[in-house]
Amino acid sequence: MIQLLPDEAICRVSLSSEAAPRRDFELVESADSLPRLEGAAVVVSGGRGMDGTEGFELLARIASSLGAALGGSLPTVDAGWVPVARQIGQSGKFVASRLYFAVGISGTPQHLAGVSPATRIVALNKDPEAAIFDVAEVGVVGDWREILPLLAQRLESGPSAD
Ligand SMILES: Cc1cc2nc3c(=O)[nH]c(=O)nc-3n(C[C@H](O)[C@H](O)[C@H](O)COP(=O)(O)OP(=O)(O)OC[C@H]3O[C@@H](n4cnc5c(N)ncnc54)[C@H](O)[C@@H]3O)c2cc1C
Repeated sequence: MIQLLPDEAICRVSLSSEAAPRRDFELVESADSLPRLEGAAVVVSGGRGMDGTEGFELLARIASSLGAALGGSLPTVDAGWVPVARQIGQSGKFVASRLYFAVGISGTPQHLAGVSPATRIVALNKDPEAAIFDVAEVGVVGDWREILPLLAQRLESGPSAD
């Protein structure tokens, strides 16, 4: 409730305790149980194309299976999907991992400034023209909604005979 008091440039704000808890906080907590970006051998990273915390929960599962760190682009940090300590790029962290799995990341210079040129990039993006494919060693054109659940399940089921 916002109540304007007469003749005063002050407003009184009452906060209701009935608001639903935000799922973002769950992700921030689970992301923080994963390895730090600094010194990580493998980084699993998401961009604006993840479209919310649901996709990042899948990325966190994949990162956990691989013992990898979780990262994100600037827009994902701005949106509250990823903790700021996990932002990669010009105004975030620099990673020099052996492998960088970039999902839903377009590959802007500001983002790639945070990834070592020696790092091998595997990119998943639904746009075949995305700039990330210019620097990726392996590129997969597709929708993460179709691919990541299968990948997470496969990694969690462990090595199989086939
Ligand atoms: C001074 C300055 C500093 C900056 N510093 C940083 C920084 O440190 N780090 C940083 O990241 N950015 C930084 N930026 C912002 C940068 O310019 C870009 O805006 C940002 O990198 C874009 O992030 P993105 O790739 O996640 O989003 P977008 O460019 O919006 O790309 C989203 C991608 O997701 C793909 N996609 C969408 N849906 C799906 C789907 N279902 N499945 C698969 N793919 C999908 C799209 O095809 C697209 O390629 C900075 C900008 C400035 C001006």
